[in-house]
Formats: sequence, C-alpha cells, structure tokens
Amino acid sequence: MTKIYEKSPAFFETFERKPSQQLTTHYCPGCGHGTLNKIIADLVAELGIQDQTIYVGPVGCGVFIYYYFEGACASAAHGRASAVATGISRSNPDGIVVSYQGDGDLAAIGTSNAIHAANRGENMIVFFVNNNVYGMTGGQMAPTTLIDQKTTTSPFGRTEKNDGFPLRMAEMMAGLEAPALVARVGVNNPKNIRQAIKVIRNGLEIQRDKKGYVFIEVMSQCPTNWKKEPAEACEWIDDVVCKQYPLGTFKELPADRQPQKRPRAEVDFAAVAKLLGLTADDETGSQEMTLPQPEMRFKFAGFGGQGVLSLGLMVAQMATQRNMEVTWLPSYGPEMRGGVANSSVVIGEDPIGTPVVDVPDVLVALNRPSLDKLGPLVPKEGLIIYNSSLIDQIPADLKGKVYPLAATTLAAEAGTVKAANVVVLGFVARMTGIFELSELEDFLRETFKQPALQEVNLKAVSAGWDVAGEV
Ligand code: SF4
Repeated sequence: MTKIYEKSPAFFETFERKPSQQLTTHYCPGCGHGTLNKIIADLVAELGIQDQTIYVGPVGCGVFIYYYFEGACASAAHGRASAVATGISRSNPDGIVVSYQGDGDLAAIGTSNAIHAANRGENMIVFFVNNNVYGMTGGQMAPTTLIDQKTTTSPFGRTEKNDGFPLRMAEMMAGLEAPALVARVGVNNPKNIRQAIKVIRNGLEIQRDKKGYVFIEVMSQCPTNWKKEPAEACEWIDDVVCKQYPLGTFKELPADRQPQKRPRAEVDFAAVAKLLGLTADDETGSQEMTLPQPEMRFKFAGFGGQGVLSLGLMVAQMATQRNMEVTWLPSYGPEMRGGVANSSVVIGEDPIGTPVVDVPDVLVALNRPSLDKLGPLVPKEGLIIYNSSLIDQIPADLKGKVYPLAATTLAAEAGTVKAANVVVLGFVARMTGIFELSELEDFLRETFKQPALQEVNLKAVSAGWDVAGEV
C-alpha cells in the first residue's frame, strides 16, 4: 500500500476530466468514495494485477472512475454494471472484473442485474458503495436510507410503513449459494479502513484465482447530502448507520475452493447472420460507399424538435445499408422538445473505436448555442455548416471551413420547416461526397411512404443538394 498522502501507481498520473482539476477527483471533500478508490488502486498495484483489471463504472457519484483508475474501463447504463461486468467477465476469462456501483445503481434500478450476477457466481468483484442516499442527484431517499433518516424526498424521516425497511444488500447476497465472499466494511475511520483493506485484498485475490463472485458493501460517508461536516459524517457511521448496517463478513467459502473458470464465450457470427437472414456478402460487408477519408465523424446539433437525431439516424442508416462500419449516438437534455440535442455519427471503413465525437470532421449546427459550443472544436480542415435562417452571428474562434445554409427557409419553401434536417442531408451529402442525390431520393421514398410527405422531403433534399452545388 502507498502512504496515505501518496497517489497509487494504479491511478493515472493526472486526471484529465477537467483541465483545472487534474490532481484531484470530483468527489466532495470528506466523501468515502475517494478513500475506497485509493484502497482499490493500491491493492490492484500491490497484487500486480493492473494489466488484467477491467473496471465497470456506474451511473452515480462513481460515474467518473474511468478518469482515475489506469486500466480498462467500461461505463454501464444505469443499474446495468453487473450485467456489463458479466459480459466482460465471460469474454475475458483471464481478466479481473471490478463492478463499482452505488445505492441507486445496485439497490434500486439494478437490483435484479446484481442479484442474478451474484446467483450465477460470475467471476467479478462488486463494490457496493452504500451512503444511504442518492448522492449524485441531490440526496433523495434510497432503498438503503435509514429508518428515520431525513432526505430531500423523506423530509420527515423514512418510515417502514410508508417506505419499507432499509435494504440490506450484503445480507441478501449472503443468502445465495454461489458467492464466494460477501462482506460489509466501512471507510470512515482508521480501524474500519484497515479492516476494509484486508477484506478487499481477500476479494481481489479471489478474483485473481478465479474463485467466483465477491460482493463488498462499503459504508461510505456522504457529508454533502447528509449535511454534516466530514468528521461528523464519519462519526455518524459508527454511531447511527452501523446500528442498522452492521459491519462484518456474512459469507465466505473455504479458501481451498477450486477455481470457477468458465470457458471463453464465443459468438457464432455465421449462425447469427443466418438467423438475421443475411447473405454471405452481407456478412463479409463489401463496402459500397466512398469516404473522403477512412473514417468520418459527424455531429448534428440543434434544439430538440429540429430533427437532429433523425438527421444523424438517416445518415447512419444509409451508411449501414452500404455495409460501412457505423455508430449513432444521440444526446439530449431532459426536455426532448426545445432543449439542446445532438447526435454523433461515425462512419468508417474499419471497426470504430468510439462513438463519441469530440472533434467533428463535419458539424451541422441548427441553432446558435450549438454553433457557439461545438464550432470551435472543428479542426481547420473540417466543415461547419450552420443554419443561417436562425443564426445571424458566428463565433470568432472557428477554425474549420464555414458554410451558411438557410435550412429553415429552404425547408419552408419546400413545404414545411420540419424538413430543415432533410435540406441539411442534401447539402452535407454533396459537400462531403458521401451519397449521390439519387441515393438520397431512394432512401427518402423508402422512408416516407405518404405521398405528401414524400414530396416535401424530396423537394427539401434537392434544395440542399442544389445549394451545395453553388458553393
Ligand atoms: S454527493 Fe456524497 S457521495 Fe457524491 S461525491 Fe459528494 S459526498 Fe460523495
């Protein structure tokens, strides 16, 4: 173990999440997550398993672990970390899989995933960080909230009659046959931390030796949402929390247990293709599209309701039909209509590393906030196409080649402003050379069966195509 003030060698040297915060994590001062992260990293380094360790991060306060642990990391959808970890474990039998989850992730939305992974005895170690509240979203009541504990959604305190009893996940997991080790530890004082280190080392050794599923519940202080000073929060764990969540080892199978190694799961791609009715050609994916470069990264951005998600989807679908490697990643705020939204599309000749588009080759900005925010990310050789019907001022710090396109006006002339995204489709296709007009028209005929809709969209796509021809 490194000294308490030393950074673990299994952490990145600098944390790249925020340029202004490269030496610290995002956790609040006094939070138990930081201590747990350090314990895990120190032990991974000490056991010499850093190169084999694959972390799966949750949605919750632990969401950014991939910025801290220097190793392979995957992020799971909310509550699905144990399921994602199962896939990783099955396809990497030599890997050491760490699933890192919180109260909401594991004890609410993801309970079934977690319990079934435990019941199957997957080779993984699950850290369940229990701080009795939903930390990231502002301290709402969790399934683990204590009886009488006040939270933003239980302002008079949790009652068993109204809200049920605190869910004791460790005790539940210990009732299953498969888990090799189930324990609850604390990271609130030196004595508990020493014990936590011992238990976690044991858990990681079980993983190294492939001896099955390990569940470690970690009682962790959340001073921010408990509205306590860090020292007071640590004491509260001893004085109050541990009365309802006793620490200890609830189940441990004998150490001389045999390894539980599973054979590597292989996918029979030929069988899948047959099931989907794909031909041998489809399978081998002879690509029918010429890109100006081996991989093109697009970002389509605007307000929800402007059709930026469907614009990305149209481009992605057309490229998919031509057997290209394609990803489509939508992103929108809580309000779909009126809020900001964007979709990222990557088209490649080879398998795509990430669907995230941080540096677009082509940016389409249908509103001003999108142009202001994303425009400066486009490099010198990239294209920036903005909706000049709605944007009258462009940022001064753009490096890419900038093209105004009166998308909304042209769409209105075609029959409806809703077809602004199709105007853009025509423009982008011609500017980049990725699709011919006839291909766009065939696709739109196929997509819009209703004659009136079809007519408007065909006019819109031609309008965009024609404008690009005049550039
Ligand atoms: S909200 Fe609570 S659990 Fe989340 S980082 Fe802050 S102290 Fe930690």
